[in-house]
Amino acid sequence: MYKAPRGTHDIYGQMALGLEKLDEISRKVFKRHNFKEVKTPIFEEAALFTRSIGEATDIVEKEMYLFEDRKGRKLALRPEGTASLVRAYIEHRFDMEDPVNKYFYCGDMFRYERPQAGRYRQFTQMGAEYFNNPNPTADAEIILLAADILSQLNIKEITIHLNSLGCSNCRPIFRQKLVEYFSSINDLCEDCKRRLEKNPLRLLDCKIDSSKFTNVPSMRQCLCDDCKNHFEQVQALLKGAGCNYVVDDKLVRGLDYYTRTVFEIRSSAVGSQDAICAGGRYDNLVKELGGQNIASVGFALGSERVLLAAEKTGFFDSIKKDNVIFIAVADEELVIPAFTFANNLITNKDNIIEKLNLPKDIIVEGPFLNKSLKSQFKLADKIGASKTIIFGKTEYDQGKILIKDMSTQEQVLINLH
Ligand SMILES: [Zn+2]
Ligand SMILES: [Zn+2]
Repeated sequence: MYKAPRGTHDIYGQMALGLEKLDEISRKVFKRHNFKEVKTPIFEEAALFTRSIGEATDIVEKEMYLFEDRKGRKLALRPEGTASLVRAYIEHRFDMEDPVNKYFYCGDMFRYERPQAGRYRQFTQMGAEYFNNPNPTADAEIILLAADILSQLNIKEITIHLNSLGCSNCRPIFRQKLVEYFSSINDLCEDCKRRLEKNPLRLLDCKIDSSKFTNVPSMRQCLCDDCKNHFEQVQALLKGAGCNYVVDDKLVRGLDYYTRTVFEIRSSAVGSQDAICAGGRYDNLVKELGGQNIASVGFALGSERVLLAAEKTGFFDSIKKDNVIFIAVADEELVIPAFTFANNLITNKDNIIEKLNLPKDIIVEGPFLNKSLKSQFKLADKIGASKTIIFGKTEYDQGKILIKDMSTQEQVLINLH
């Protein structure tokens, strides 16, 4: 028997409903903020990710799904959304096309990670990127947008962790301090030893060694005046909007492209130190990938992780029950009118839904021929039908049908025409 590959999962039932609802809610929020959707391919040239995410990162070193196509092109399944969106932004010159450069995406991402609760090798992410705006208002809007989606999902126990990683002027000072600091620590793990010269920031989120790191130099002490200013303004804007956050010196994020603002949103509902949403500013990435010098900021959230948090706060119970209308037929002779009636409901022929005073968003089921009326009622109950419409011989001969309310058991006779 075949099974879904390790780390992947089939989405069905509640989870499928949850994802649909999350998609619907976040699209509304994205649109209210004037973000437009961009869909990019699920695979790209592998070099795009190596270049943008950075060579000495977990994603590039250990987690990418790499393959060659039949012409020997080196491709990768996308491990995240930003690089692809930046590529599309440059390729189609969105900076020339659109007066405001705000975009969102929703789609599947792929990472070869150890599977754990809410973490899969194929997972859904949605995110937003705000290009061409170097001002702190863009950082604040992105953070508020992410928080807005989570609050619409009723996820209340969230903490926003905020930090600044500085710019190409001040980050090298921090980097040097880190190299000196880490060089003084004995028995670092192999990953840390290897990354010390290439990417000392990565050591800060080493799961093996992090307990050894005390009194680590902080980026905040090294920020240049411009970066300090920017960071202060972002905070003032968040405070002004009534948004709570904590400044977290240890927050460095697992990707190389971030500059200045970085943030993570964590939820006590899913426990641990893991973020359900993360993002930050990346002022050099567009240029580094061959575009103009365009400052940008964005975020992404993992749908499965977010739903795991939402589940704990009763999100799934709040998904509205569907209005299923069940068509029952008491006599085999009536299958044609019953079937026709069901189809008329589905297509809302001659506004039949309004005429019968049914809710707009109905789902229609039936008729079933080979079942007794009793077992049709049982089935209607199991499906959770709100109303059953019954085609009976006597009533039908008088041009009428019965509508039965499944919760009150009340029956009303109505004219078919
Ligand atoms: Zn700076
Ligand atoms: Zn380590």
